[in-house]
This record gives sequence, C-alpha cells and structure tokens, in this order.
Amino acid sequence: MQLPFFLARRFVAGENFSQAVSKVKELNHKGIPVTLDLLGENVTDRDTAEATTLEYCDLLDGIRDEQLDATISIKLTMLGLDIDTGYCRENLHKLLDKAKKLDQFVRIDMEGSDYTQRTLDLFYDARKIYGRHVGIVIQAYLFRSREDIAALVQNGADVRLCKGAYNEPPSLAYKNMSDIRTMFKNYAADLMKFTDNTRIATHDDHLIEWTKRYASENRIPQEKFEFQMLYGLRLSTCEDLVKEGYRVRIYVPYGTMWFPYFSRRLRERKENIWFILRNMFRN
Ligand SMILES: Cc1cc2nc3c(=O)[nH]c(=O)nc-3n(C[C@H](O)[C@H](O)[C@H](O)COP(=O)(O)OP(=O)(O)OC[C@H]3O[C@@H](n4cnc5c(N)ncnc54)[C@H](O)[C@@H]3O)c2cc1C
Repeated sequence: MQLPFFLARRFVAGENFSQAVSKVKELNHKGIPVTLDLLGENVTDRDTAEATTLEYCDLLDGIRDEQLDATISIKLTMLGLDIDTGYCRENLHKLLDKAKKLDQFVRIDMEGSDYTQRTLDLFYDARKIYGRHVGIVIQAYLFRSREDIAALVQNGADVRLCKGAYNEPPSLAYKNMSDIRTMFKNYAADLMKFTDNTRIATHDDHLIEWTKRYASENRIPQEKFEFQMLYGLRLSTCEDLVKEGYRVRIYVPYGTMWFPYFSRRLRERKENIWFILRNMFRN
C-alpha cells in the first residue's frame, strides 16, 4: 500500500528535486546550508543501482544550476552494497569523479551495523583518491566507534557524529541514553580537538549546550565545527544558533522512497507521531 505523501511532508522536502529546491532556497536565505539526500535504501538490482548513481550525479548538476548552498549525502546500499562491494565501489567512484569535477562534497551516511565495516572500508579507499570531497558518519551508540573514531582522527577525516538511528542489539550498541550521550561527548571532544571539520548531528539540547561549552573552554573556533539537524525539526533552534555565530547545516531528504526514513523519525520521538496524527485530521 502506498501511503499519501502529506503524512511525510513535515520531514521530507518533496517527492522530487524541483519540489525540494524552494525549501532549500528558503533555508539558504536564512544563512543555513543544507545536505540533500535522495531517499531510498537497500537496492537489490543493478539497473536501479546504476539509475540511482546517475540520479545522484544529476543532483550535483542540479545544485550547481540552481546555485544552492548544498552538498549531498548518500547511502551505499543505494549504490549496490547489497549486490557486490566491488560493484558498489565502481558506482561510488563514478559519483565522486563527478563531485571532484564540480568541487562538491559527498557524505556517506552510516546504515545498520551489518554495513559498518564495509562502509568504512569503502570510505578509506575513496578518501585516498578523492580526499576532501568525501566524508563519513559515526554512530555514538556502537561499541566499535571508540576504535573507529581514533582511526578517523588519525586520518583527519570529515566526520558527522550522530547517536545512531537503527535498532541494534545490546551485544553491539549502548541502549541507555546516558551512556550514548557520554560516548557522544568523548568522540565529539576528540574530533573537535584534532580535526578541522566536526559535524555535530543532534537535536539534543544537552549535547548542543555541552558542545558550545566545550568549544569555548578549549578555544575551538566556530569555523572548526558545525551543528547539523534534520529538516522539519528545531528550525528556530537552528536560527538561534546561526544568530549566535555558529555554523548550522540542515539535512534535507526528498524522494518517493520516504517510508523507511519517515518511520525512523516516528520511532525516535513520540511527539513526532502526535504531530503526524494531528495533521492527518486536519487534511
Ligand atoms: C544531520 C543528521 C544526520 C544523521 N545521519 C545519520 C546517519 O547517517 N546514520 C544514523 O544512524 N543516524 C543518523 N542520524 C540520526 C541520529 O542518529 C539520531 O537517530 C537522531 O538524530 C535522534 O537523536 P538526537 O540526538 O537528535 O535526539 P533524541 O535522542 O531523539 O532526543 C534527545 C533529546 O533531545 C531533545 N529533542 C530531540 N528532538 C527534539 C525536537 N524536535 N524538539 C525539541 N527537542 C528535541 C529532547 O530533549 C530529547 O529528549 C542523523 C541525524 C542528523 C541530525
């Protein structure tokens, strides 16, 4: 059954690029750059993986043509990671060739733990060739992230740090919010101290305030880190942060395959469910 798009529009900027463009321009106008994300995951046939790679390349052209202040995020399972790692690498490099040519940036989103090692392997391999044009994401809830952060700090990589959005087993991940916040702070501190571009991806006031305090106490300049939030959440907080001089970027998803992303947002926060229910009865 296909659910109607109006359910998702709080969190998803449109079903295609042209619908998303006006939302991106509004944010850019407020001094907020974005990360565009063409929604979808777990592609299982080569035709779709290749079509998706081309669509990402077209997206980079679209950003240039519309003069948007935007980079992109991708999921490797959309480029064929479930089909074959070497094949996914070919598609990723096609996209990164294009990104390098346009002086653009591609961040590889982090998916469930079955993909973590392969995603990091493909990231390190791409980083050797494409340098500052590619970045990665680390999930603070995973036990393994301690070692992963140490290696990424050594590498000087551009890391987005988030709590993690997948339902991982207790053998692999912290389940308790206070543990996850502690690990988030440890990793953020290392990234902010030792790398030039830390992306703090959270809506959590506790972590936002901690980041501001940590940066100020350790004299970390505001250009060295950026807050990131999701489209549809906490816009006024983003605007306040911009007024205070902080860098803020909003992750803007669009596309017809919005259901898995949408359901993760509902699972995360019961207020999001109430918001959708209220809107259903208004429509
Ligand atoms: C830019 C970005 C990119 C991401 N990329 C990935 C990725 O690649 N892989 C991945 O696994 N996950 C990703 N995530 C999702 C992330 O892992 C979390 O699942 C998600 O952000 C929820 O955690 P949180 O820290 O934002 O806040 P939560 O843990 O959901 O909330 C903690 C507290 O923050 C406050 N809060 C939260 N939301 C609101 C709100 N809307 N209004 C008011 N207060 C609020 C409340 O006090 C709440 O109790 C990304 C998140 C962002 C922001």
